[in-house]
Amino acid sequence: MKKTLTDYEKIIGPVAISKLRQVARDLKGASVVHVNSTREGGGVAEILFWMIPLMRELGLDALWEVIEGNAEYFNTTKTFHNGLQGNDVILTDRMIRAYEDTVAGNADRLRPVLQDADFVVIHDPQPAFLHELCPDKSGRWIWRCHIDASHPNRAVWNYLRSKVNNFDASIFSMPDFAHKLDHPQFIIAPSIDPLSDKNIELSDKEIKDTLQNFNIDPNRPILCQISRFDRFKDPIGVIKAFNLLNGSFNAQLVLAGGGATDDPEGAAVLEEVHRAANGNKNIHILMLPPDAHRIINALQRASTIVIQKSLQEGFGLTVTEAMWKCKPVIGGNTGGIRLQVHNHHTGFLVDTPEGAALRIRKLLYQPDVISKIGQTAKEFVKENYLCNRHLREYLTLMLGLRKGLANHLIAG
Ligand code: UDP
Repeated sequence: MKKTLTDYEKIIGPVAISKLRQVARDLKGASVVHVNSTREGGGVAEILFWMIPLMRELGLDALWEVIEGNAEYFNTTKTFHNGLQGNDVILTDRMIRAYEDTVAGNADRLRPVLQDADFVVIHDPQPAFLHELCPDKSGRWIWRCHIDASHPNRAVWNYLRSKVNNFDASIFSMPDFAHKLDHPQFIIAPSIDPLSDKNIELSDKEIKDTLQNFNIDPNRPILCQISRFDRFKDPIGVIKAFNLLNGSFNAQLVLAGGGATDDPEGAAVLEEVHRAANGNKNIHILMLPPDAHRIINALQRASTIVIQKSLQEGFGLTVTEAMWKCKPVIGGNTGGIRLQVHNHHTGFLVDTPEGAALRIRKLLYQPDVISKIGQTAKEFVKENYLCNRHLREYLTLMLGLRKGLANHLIAG
């Protein structure tokens, strides 16, 4: 269903909407092209899904383009991703060739629209080489890095740096991720859309039906982690934490996720997860289709505690989604999760499966604490991580770049 800005007034109030319209006024008619590498799966697609229509409603001419590539390209870009997040990866000449040839093929298709755009926002490394391939560009190019790039593999960063250094600006989710680049860098945290299928209120019946479809018992505690099957999300660590509960509280664990078309490692990780679960009937491993937004919404709402035990995390929209649904989050003590999870207030940060098990146990003993933390978590998201704040900061940045104020302007 098409939403309008007015629909958001009920949640964020008329002043926030008026402010958005005010900032957008000077950008009316500006063309903005966002480029990423998948239309579904993962946080970037999740964000672009609401951001494009809202930018359009505010009078900008917003477009979303997606890089197309083969398995070799996506294996290479996953290597970039893993390398940026600090893994010890090997980047070969052949991989670089596969990357550059694929982006060059896409450039032939995208060049006209990119060269004419007032703003181009390149999400993550997958499309970054497009900048070099559009020599007659007229607009401002922004590199939006969603990844925890705080301690990148040197070879990967040196290569990517050569691709992004000539952009007009870059955006990182938190200061720790920023790098020495020859252009201004901005810190803008991601956000969720409270009116998306993933986050809207659901009826009790829909939640109950969803649980029933997956044979999950609504009368026992539900611990849940929603994530792509990716080693950085540490699904095996979650299983270890669950096993440490030794059946206490009669709890159930739900590990639910699908793949993303730009993530080739999902199948192998899913297999590892099944092996680790070792047939435990209290562990539900759900492979979901990419459009399972209401199912994920229902699983999050049905959860007693949400876990996001990532080992590295750019931001962790799943954390935001859970907090919006009044859930305490037990999150890995890393990256963007630290922005959201504040010990004893919105959840708990943990470093190990043992730490996670301890926090789960303590929370399950104290239902009143679960509910208090959940309320605080929702308020915290409302103040900080809803789409209006995120959009306003993008627009402010664009205005600043257009007026040449970039060196003096920090959105946030
Ligand atoms: N998600 C989904 N289906 C899945 C797994 C995840 O729709 O099977 C969504 C999830 O609800 C969240 C986003 O994808 O909105 C994941 O974003 P996050 O920042 O948590 O992690 P990323 O996948 O971008 O690393």
